[in-house]
Amino acid sequence: MNLQTKILLTLLLVLAIGLTTASFITNRTATNAYQGYLNTNYQQNLRAIADQASERYVESRSWQSVQDWLDTVAPGGRGPGMIEGRGGMGMMRQMHGGSWLLVAPNSGQPLIGNAAPVAAEELANGAPLTVAGQVVAVLVATNHMSMMIGPAEQQVIDQVNRATLIAAGVAALAALLIGGLLVSNLLRPLRRLEAGMAQVAQGQFDVQVEVRNRDEIGQLAIGFNQMAANLHQQEALRQRMVTDIAHELRTPLSVVQGNLQAILDGIYPLELSEIRTIAEEISLLTRLVNDLHELALAEAGRLPLTLQSTPVADVLQHMAESFRPLTAVQSVTLTVEPAHEPVQVLADPDRLQQILYNLLGNALRHTSKAGTIHLSAVLAGDNRVRFTIQDTGSGIPAADLPYIFDRFYRVDKSRTRTDSYTSSSGLGLAIVKSLVEAQAGRVGVESREGMGSRFWFELPGAAGAPILAVATK
Ligand code: ADP
Repeated sequence: MNLQTKILLTLLLVLAIGLTTASFITNRTATNAYQGYLNTNYQQNLRAIADQASERYVESRSWQSVQDWLDTVAPGGRGPGMIEGRGGMGMMRQMHGGSWLLVAPNSGQPLIGNAAPVAAEELANGAPLTVAGQVVAVLVATNHMSMMIGPAEQQVIDQVNRATLIAAGVAALAALLIGGLLVSNLLRPLRRLEAGMAQVAQGQFDVQVEVRNRDEIGQLAIGFNQMAANLHQQEALRQRMVTDIAHELRTPLSVVQGNLQAILDGIYPLELSEIRTIAEEISLLTRLVNDLHELALAEAGRLPLTLQSTPVADVLQHMAESFRPLTAVQSVTLTVEPAHEPVQVLADPDRLQQILYNLLGNALRHTSKAGTIHLSAVLAGDNRVRFTIQDTGSGIPAADLPYIFDRFYRVDKSRTRTDSYTSSSGLGLAIVKSLVEAQAGRVGVESREGMGSRFWFELPGAAGAPILAVATK
């Protein structure tokens, strides 16, 4: 059963309960009101007859003659059915089928004949006959039906009930009609959402549903749109990554395969130099796979990190010593600042070294003979440590700068791979960015083609570390 049917059935149930209760209460109220009116009227009429009977008694002094008169005017009695004064036809109509009796005020014993005394209730409902201020008799109606609702009255009540039922039916129909329209209107955005969900379930993520208002369903639609947009972006990233990986792995694999095949076919001699080339390609492949794994972990936020207070100067010195032989070979000057200051950074020491290794490696790779690389770390505002790796190398073209941290992005697409340090995977900066961000930091670059580059990253300073210098941009 769909939601619309459920809501309509609920509405119908609520209406049925409400209208049944309303018509029951109306019926009871009408009947009671009518019964009350009849009782009052009956009492008044009975009193009027009692008064006339008193007068007749005063005139005749004979209960027999009064009773005879009563018999002639009683409803269903022998007489013409008319009395004078109040009551008239109304009284006659109302007191149908009854007989009237004069009884003693205390005992209820009929004054004429030997009939048994009337019941106490009848006596209590009777009307007194008073002569000179004394109650001399009580006029009682022996037939209780005379106080009940007759067919004519019942007809009026039935009419009221019918009118109530018709009104209830019309109200129910109108409520259902309007309710149906409202429900269908209310459910329209949900249907759009349902259609969108179905598309997403089929793997079609470039779907957005219309948001017309900001109520709960509107919020749901906004959330859905965000979710779909994220999925779409993730899917695009995933597809691009798969294509990139396949593309990156294909080249070294074909080199390995081609070289091996050439050796097997006797084209290349089975010499150490050939095997070295193959080993280099395999080590590049291994590095690529490792880098990709690391990148995937970092991007998923699942990279194991041991954040600790790390002395910056020690790390910088260690990096400088590691790179000294390479800089010497390339005749590049490497300077470090500060040399011995006790600035502390909150970072994973191994990951910090990895970041610096990538950035220094890039700087060295792009800096020609007699150039300089300057490595520094200073405490910036907001207790952050800012690391800078500045070189006087080739610089990066402005058109490439926005994509430089993207995975597999290379400025010089034709760069050859030689060894694990100088080889170019296009992943180095993407890994740097992920590692920095995984440690609550941020990374950036300023560069001009032919003028050198300045890469920087900031990491949180370790609490309590002394402030030694404030970075100036
Ligand atoms: P790769 O492994 O190819 O170096 P990276 O992600 O580390 O990949 O770098 C991406 C691109 O950015 C490189 O291809 C290179 O052209 C450029 N690049 C990186 N660092 C520097 C630098 N210090 N000077 C000039 N170009 C750089």
